[in-house]
Amino acid sequence: MTTENAPLTVDVIRSLPKVVLHDHLDGGLRPATILELAADVGHQLPAGDAEALGAWFAEAADSGSLVRYLETFDHTIAVMQTPAALARVAREAVLDLARDGVVYAEQRWAPEQHLQRGLTLQETVDAVQSGIEQGVAEAAAEGRTIRVGQLVTAMRHADRWQEIAELAVANRANGVVGFDIAGAEDGFPPSRHAEIWRYLADRNFPVTIHAGEAAGPESIAEAVHLGQASRIGHGVRIVEDITFDAEHPHRFPHSAEGESGTAALGLLAHWVRDHQIPLELCPSSNVQTGAATSVAAHPITRLKELDFAVTLNTDNRLMSRTTMTQEMALLVEHAGWTIDDLADVTMNAAWSAFVHHDERRALVDDVILPGYQEVQGAQL
Ligand SMILES: [Zn+2]
Repeated sequence: MTTENAPLTVDVIRSLPKVVLHDHLDGGLRPATILELAADVGHQLPAGDAEALGAWFAEAADSGSLVRYLETFDHTIAVMQTPAALARVAREAVLDLARDGVVYAEQRWAPEQHLQRGLTLQETVDAVQSGIEQGVAEAAAEGRTIRVGQLVTAMRHADRWQEIAELAVANRANGVVGFDIAGAEDGFPPSRHAEIWRYLADRNFPVTIHAGEAAGPESIAEAVHLGQASRIGHGVRIVEDITFDAEHPHRFPHSAEGESGTAALGLLAHWVRDHQIPLELCPSSNVQTGAATSVAAHPITRLKELDFAVTLNTDNRLMSRTTMTQEMALLVEHAGWTIDDLADVTMNAAWSAFVHHDERRALVDDVILPGYQEVQGAQL
């Protein structure tokens, strides 16, 4: 049977194997779960049913007010203060990702934000890990194979970086695959506690750093050079170190020779591209926070055409009301992405996962390539 150019429908996209490297555990709860957990602990919520609560989160995140955006996390974190709640949220996140076609995920979260009811840092990590393992087992029972690692995050303003870095390293055999810093980027650079990057490097521990979202290229430079980050969380503002041809203000044509004469890279942009440092880009989230004006105009397409190591991510599925399938579908609909583009960013993410090279190769050869080739074959 010959197949006409099969359209990239949402169902086709959902069936593709996906990799997500930047997804916050406290930004991905199901609204119905928040309601139940809040009732358990007597936490007051701004809405009383799942539909209205989901809308409230999206509107608050969309409001353009940083205060309102941060308020959304007060509610999710407030209901994630017991081992059972942490485990449930982690378990459901794994199931939701697996049902969306995600085959490898890293879930990031900040243990220090989950001590309000007396848990120790170690108890929070153990609870999340048990939830992840339950979710992976339940997904397997549904016939879905997913692998999930924890990324342990230190909050930039809280100055517990060393303690959290030690927690991450101590849990290397307990599901923690990397370390991150998050929160107020501007004013709290990696140099605030420069010694922890050496501590982590000496232990060969993987690092990704939120940079180039709320602050500019100087923040990316510190993350890469001082933080020795293997990946950059967001990194979207690397475009400020690139001068684009005015004739192509929004995107580049899908052609191999598209770069020549259309963009001039600064030294930092060259460094990031030369070293193929993966950028964990999150289009919908960036539109909400104002780091990009629209998905159509999001720099992810230009950066991809310029051959940066682009990966596609969700950031906060609850606040952005999104999924990996939706992020892909938006780029197909509004930025002209093809199945080959989706395959590229998925491969980049798989090769950047915080697992060892042989495990990345198995993920690529056994799962990702066959999954995309099936659809790519139908598109010939
Ligand atoms: Zn993030």
